[in-house]
Amino acid sequence: MIKKVTPHLSQNERLVFERSSPGKKAYQLPELDVPAVDAAEALGAANVRAEIEGFPEISEVEAIRHFTRLSTWNYAIDYGMYPLGSCTMKYNPRINEVVARTEALAWAHPYQPEALAQGSMAVMAHLEAALAEITGMDAVTLQPAAGAHGELTGILLIRALLEKRGNPRKKILIPDSAHGTNPATAAIAGYAVQNIPSSAKGVLDVSALAQIVDKDVAALMVTNPNTLGVFEENIIQAAEILHKKGAMLYMDGANMNALVGIARPGDFGVDVMHLNLHKTFSTPHGGGGPGAGPVAVKKVLEPFLPAPRLKRTGKKWAYDYNRKRSIGRVKAYYGNFGVLVRALAYILAHGGPGLRNATVDAVLNAVYIRKQLEAYYDLPYTQANMHEVVFSDSRQAKLGVHTGDIAKRLIDYGFHPYTVSFPLIVHGALMIEPTETEGKHEIDQFIEAMISIAREIETDPQLVKTAPHGTRTSRVDEVAAARKPVLRWKPA
Ligand SMILES: *Cc1c(COP(=O)(O)O)cnc(C)c1O
Repeated sequence: MIKKVTPHLSQNERLVFERSSPGKKAYQLPELDVPAVDAAEALGAANVRAEIEGFPEISEVEAIRHFTRLSTWNYAIDYGMYPLGSCTMKYNPRINEVVARTEALAWAHPYQPEALAQGSMAVMAHLEAALAEITGMDAVTLQPAAGAHGELTGILLIRALLEKRGNPRKKILIPDSAHGTNPATAAIAGYAVQNIPSSAKGVLDVSALAQIVDKDVAALMVTNPNTLGVFEENIIQAAEILHKKGAMLYMDGANMNALVGIARPGDFGVDVMHLNLHKTFSTPHGGGGPGAGPVAVKKVLEPFLPAPRLKRTGKKWAYDYNRKRSIGRVKAYYGNFGVLVRALAYILAHGGPGLRNATVDAVLNAVYIRKQLEAYYDLPYTQANMHEVVFSDSRQAKLGVHTGDIAKRLIDYGFHPYTVSFPLIVHGALMIEPTETEGKHEIDQFIEAMISIAREIETDPQLVKTAPHGTRTSRVDEVAAARKPVLRWKPA
């Protein structure tokens, strides 16, 4: 049994302001070898501050240690398994970083003339083609900056096509298992949202769908595999029902890690979808950094894609701005270029068979976790799962311990928590997605931790209810932390 907590994550570090003492510097400059100029005289007095109140003055080693120590407070994928379901937190291979730092790519400027940007444009064209091949779609835009942004772009494309056909329609259908961004997207694109219930098996109920789809429905937005990690086995029939009534099928492709190299949405009736390069294609998540949510479409939607489009004339790449039916730009320049380079590096480093292998391993890992844990945690939907598995806390809840408590206790075992309380159709959900990048050793440690917590709940529920015990702070007021964060240091 693992009892060890992670003390190196709990080291205290004061604010940088509290280390400050007047006159300390973290730099050394050589002797001036030109005449000194007065800053106020050169720049104008209004542009020069005499002092920045409370600005910390520290030495170089203090600056380095301060930020290095702070970095250890964050859990990271380079530190251990990050089983956040629906997020596909996979390892970011270092080859991606090497390629993205290639001088010609890293220093390219978005205003560089086309003649001097041919390499960067070829990289983007190559990625568009690869994503079209992987998804089975006809055209791809790389502009959207994240998954939710891709959703909005995709639904605006549907609206533009339907408007051209004479009627944008009124409603978007969304299953009750959907990610929260889906209804938000539909509403921002000006559509009413109609929720459709899942069947007892946790998948789309096509006979119910056939009753609901009418001339007011613009599209169905569906995640496949859905947020239970279950493949929508009736997806082809769903597409047919929609198409017969002139409606479209939008696929939220955030779960493509379960399909790449195995099945292509373009082949099972999807008209438009987004991908999350920061999930499926291993580019870093968040940390304030950019993501990318390319959108892939069938031919009928191609004329509406955001401008400019990459176009090849002879041997040269050019940007085509003259696209009359385009929905316009959705992002400055051409998308988050550095992220696009990383995703292409990942795709080319794996090759087709490698990408397929990653999918098979991602599914194997999730199925293995399910098998090992189903004796300890309740499994509300027993359909075969793909890349993630959703348990409920119903057994532990009888002893007063809930999914949030179990997640907090997992921190004491050195793991990032799984996704808590999502999807909403599972009461007290524990949503676990290991991804293919975890080996058996790491996954076995995770399983051991989960089993150990299940046993603790039977003998000492209070221990779990008050976790974590090995961190710098334990339970914080999560609502106040989100609504009233203290972000400003006030000089004493
Ligand atoms: C992550 C996710 C999104 C949103 O993607 P972002 O890149 O975070 O905007 C949408 N749908 C599903 C199913 C997701 O898992």
